[in-house]
Amino acid sequence: MSVKKFSRQRESIRAYLRSTKEHPTADMIYHVVKQQYPSISLGTVYRNLAQLEEDGEIMKVYCGEGTERFDARTDPHYHLICRQCGRVVDLEIPPLNHIDVLAASGFKGEVDGHYVWFWGLCPLCLEKKNNS
Ligand code: ZN
Ligand code: MN
Repeated sequence: MSVKKFSRQRESIRAYLRSTKEHPTADMIYHVVKQQYPSISLGTVYRNLAQLEEDGEIMKVYCGEGTERFDARTDPHYHLICRQCGRVVDLEIPPLNHIDVLAASGFKGEVDGHYVWFWGLCPLCLEKKNNS
């Protein structure tokens, strides 16, 4: 495979991630990019995602569900995972840096950071619940 083709595929993955707020898994990305590049393999998608992450273009989102999700939004922000539909949504809250201070209090080591996610109902599932 030529370098050129490889970077076009990477560009299409990047463009898709920038166009969505869905925090897709590698598998979801694969099915979308496959429509444009039918010969692409899941392995190639993973390699491109790793490269994009290394370049700081995207980041991995961990939501405690054992599946990695990907986000083109790379500024520090928090996520909620919907217990009903599994959707991962951005939360618009300020950074919770003070919990690092809390974690460090009475701890003889050093705290460098934290990973926090929230769970609950996404707006769509809450609306369905309220209308049923
Ligand atoms: Zn939901
Ligand atoms: Mn996000």
